[in-house]
Amino acid sequence: MYFSKEELERLKKDGEEKAKEMELDNIGREYKANDIQIKCIHCKHTKFELGKALLNSRGLTFLDLDWLNESAKILICKRCGYIHWFSGEITEIKD
Ligand SMILES: [Zn+2]
Repeated sequence: MYFSKEELERLKKDGEEKAKEMELDNIGREYKANDIQIKCIHCKHTKFELGKALLNSRGLTFLDLDWLNESAKILICKRCGYIHWFSGEITEIKD
């Protein structure tokens, strides 16, 4: 299999970007909701790991909590592990 010089350059760049992404996942990322930066309510840390909560189970539907649906997001504090729940939109802060 052959790669042109351009392709090799691109692969190298892709790899570097992926490594950077992984590093970010490791230290956590900053987010905001309603234009307000999210801080851990427990330890005031600002870096989180984003997760999605699958709440659209039959049990929740029965309890009339359908509005939560799949849009619920969780941010796990990278320092203390406190889990923050959001049913609305949250956006990542990129510098
Ligand atoms: Zn915390």
